[in-house]
Amino acid sequence: MGRSFRFVILGGGVSAGYAALEFVRLGIPAGDLCIITDEAVAPYERPALSKGFLLPEGAVRLPAFHTCVGVGAERLTARWYKEHGIELLLNTQVVSVDLKRQTLLTSAKETIAYLTLIVATGARVLRLEEFGVTGADARNIFYLRNLHDATKLVEAMQSCSGGKAVVIGGGYIGMECAAALVSNGVHVTMVFPESHCIARLFTPQIATFYEDYYTRRGVVFVKGTVMSTFESDIDGKVAAVVLKDGTRLPADLVVVGVGIRPNTTLLEGQLTMEKGGIKVNGKMRTSNSTVYAVGDVAAFPLKMYGDVRRLEHVDHARKSAAHAVESIMHPERAKDYDYLPYFYSRVFSLSWQFFGDNSGECLLFGDLKSEKFGAYWVDRGRLVGAFLEGGSKSEYAALAVVARKRPMVEDVQLLAGQGIKFALALCEATSSDSLVSTMAATDDERGAMAAVASDLLQHSGFKVGAGIVVAVAVSWVAYWYGRKKWRK
Ligand SMILES: Cc1cc2nc3c(=O)[nH]c(=O)nc-3n(C[C@H](O)[C@H](O)[C@H](O)COP(=O)(O)OP(=O)(O)OC[C@H]3O[C@@H](n4cnc5c(N)ncnc54)[C@H](O)[C@@H]3O)c2cc1C
Repeated sequence: MGRSFRFVILGGGVSAGYAALEFVRLGIPAGDLCIITDEAVAPYERPALSKGFLLPEGAVRLPAFHTCVGVGAERLTARWYKEHGIELLLNTQVVSVDLKRQTLLTSAKETIAYLTLIVATGARVLRLEEFGVTGADARNIFYLRNLHDATKLVEAMQSCSGGKAVVIGGGYIGMECAAALVSNGVHVTMVFPESHCIARLFTPQIATFYEDYYTRRGVVFVKGTVMSTFESDIDGKVAAVVLKDGTRLPADLVVVGVGIRPNTTLLEGQLTMEKGGIKVNGKMRTSNSTVYAVGDVAAFPLKMYGDVRRLEHVDHARKSAAHAVESIMHPERAKDYDYLPYFYSRVFSLSWQFFGDNSGECLLFGDLKSEKFGAYWVDRGRLVGAFLEGGSKSEYAALAVVARKRPMVEDVQLLAGQGIKFALALCEATSSDSLVSTMAATDDERGAMAAVASDLLQHSGFKVGAGIVVAVAVSWVAYWYGRKKWRK
């Protein structure tokens, strides 16, 4: 029998780093926590691998992007774990988990016992071999999930300047890798089966903006088709990618980003699964009361929408990890996880963020030519999702508020006309919410303020439907109250 810990985190990625920070914040004693990871380094901000890490100049390298710098918190180097008495087992794969005995078996043949286990195993890339493609193990084919992959990709890009790359997959990993390749002087062709890039989120119009931008930087798009085989040279390296229709794309290197699968294998048959992941409740607890699951691997109740989702995004990894730790340490005060979906991407000098859900009708706003535009999704009369390219900090914050509030929208055209102003007004109103709830001493006073607000609205012409009416009314009332207080 090996060591035993009060808490064990299986996996050492984004969630593990944020969970560790939360454990320390909540005051766990030294020696209580162990993190086991098959990676060679302490947890880091994985999104950096397809962005700053791939830059031709001024690229970021560890230790600069260890968690939790992604939210401006402490940078947890291996030393930090040591100083806080956290056992960080690097280069150690967990090969089996016995939930009945509450033990894990590592590749070093050590059995580690736990009282509470947090599963934070993330996901693995889908490989072309899994689609029956032969020759997909050639050494100039690259995937991107971890530091090791990213390091290999950097070496390949640097030795391939002026050469040709084929990127297979049009999701955000494919798009970010394509941008990095171009920045490193490599000619890129992107191949994907969908009719436009980032098809899970973008509408054709939004996608066209990004595809045009890439095209101006020399990227060639081959859409609506898939690769069929690789042509290899005498060294066994891929020399060309052959598409279904026989088109041959010469390639010095190939980057594949065709999706991921959550790492659930060790827990299958032991925990309830859903949506391809480990089912958890609002406390991130699995079907076994001593086991929690967080990040990419967890299928959790998305309270806002009343359904179960599995999200593969860093913000959820960070927040679900902190939430699980709070639930473990303070079960009496922990509420149910109430998550607002949020994700982002940065390519070239572009940068977008999305909040909420992309269901229903999509309304574009702003000016695509000026590279500052956005979109709202309205589903059954409610604004449910918001997207913005080129926004400022406060504009993105306003989008989050709007997506969380899900206001009713009566006139979608007016909403599109208001664009980001709608979100900003609602955001301002929301920040005044608490003030408003405390400011009206009596019903009469409340009524008087409402009358003022309604009068203002009737004469302002600033009307787009119930949502904005409420937003402006609340802002005005807050303003009115502020003046009243000041006069006292
Ligand atoms: C290149 C890249 C760019 C990204 N960019 C963005 C972005 O711009 N925006 C965004 O929202 N999201 C982005 N993501 C997604 C985001 O990084 C993930 O959602 C997040 O990392 C999930 O955190 P996690 O802790 O669940 O899993 P991970 O961070 O993947 O960590 C899982 C860890 O568990 C380890 N592990 C797995 N099985 C075992 C085992 N049996 N034994 C030991 N260790 C094990 C893994 O090696 C890994 O270290 C990106 C992902 C990648 C790969």
